[in-house]
Amino acid sequence: MDILIFSPDGKTAAYETGLAEHLPQASIRGWQPGDTAPADYLVLWKPNAQVLQPRERLKAIFNLGAGVDAVLGTRGEDAQRLPAGVPLVRLEDAGMADQMAQYVSAAALRYFRRLDEFDAQQTQGQWKFQKPNRLADFPVAVLGYGTLGAHVAKALKSFGFPVRAWRRSPRSDDSGITLHHGEAGFDACVSGARILVNLLPLTPQTVNVLNAGLFAKLAHGAFLINVARGAHLVEDDLLAALDSGQMAAATLDVFRTEPLPTDHPFWRAPRLTLTPHISALTLRDETVAQIAGKIAALERGESITGIVDPARGY
Ligand code: NAP
Repeated sequence: MDILIFSPDGKTAAYETGLAEHLPQASIRGWQPGDTAPADYLVLWKPNAQVLQPRERLKAIFNLGAGVDAVLGTRGEDAQRLPAGVPLVRLEDAGMADQMAQYVSAAALRYFRRLDEFDAQQTQGQWKFQKPNRLADFPVAVLGYGTLGAHVAKALKSFGFPVRAWRRSPRSDDSGITLHHGEAGFDACVSGARILVNLLPLTPQTVNVLNAGLFAKLAHGAFLINVARGAHLVEDDLLAALDSGQMAAATLDVFRTEPLPTDHPFWRAPRLTLTPHISALTLRDETVAQIAGKIAALERGESITGIVDPARGY
């Protein structure tokens, strides 16, 4: 069995070693320009067109991340690059859900407990009581209730926040989280929310979803936490909503252009917290174990989960 690994920076050695430990019978190589040789499995991140050329024996493509927009294109326009009939498999959790829950909970609690205001007081040497917020006044709307969104929503609920979440399908669970679905359920999910968390995949349906129209539906002085993709956010709409006070503050981990250009207005905007796409990192050991397990299952003729529907975009 041949496994070919691609990374845009060419640094594949650690994944080669990791996969070799799990699959000692496999022959594993890092992709070099011009490599069109047969491979049974392709493991990749942000592929170029050459590595996705049809390849003899190819049985599956594994994406080294949960979001597949870098494979399918921001608006799904690159889906036709995929070799016909070869499944694209995404990462499912692999240690990212806990990281996401930590990051989003930290941001939400910081806003709810008014820590920014106490920070500002401290710089003025002020000892001053601030009326505590009430959980009942802090409904949280989570866009995307998949592997990561559901885990984050449950973590927020464990702190007592009233949590609603939005997904595409009408599936329900016993988490106690109020679930809405489809276009018809969108307004009910976001209306009056004090904190908006975005964990949608980037697809033709969800690009630009974080816009002025949505911000206007939230409570006045709402908070945004975007940990999904930069292209979900209409950046000028957020700056305008921060100016008007409709949005009180935002925590952004992802951006349309990464690294965020040094002259980008976000660097100077007040009440923005920016982090360099670190909310949930791909953890090598967990990732290698998950992919190796799925390759072994496919080799035994078993079915696997995490197969992307290119038409749906996630
Ligand atoms: P997932 O399991 O596929 O979940 C996606 C969720 O979004 C599902 O609940 C799905 O609905 C919902 N959804 C998709 N399209 C929708 C639409 N048009 N309308 C309403 N709901 C829609 O994905 P995941 O593993 O949770 O990952 C989510 C995203 O997080 C990734 O795509 C990636 O962009 C981002 N991410 C960011 C980082 C980071 O470090 N910042 C790290 C990892 C992932 P159904 O439940 O009905 O299918």
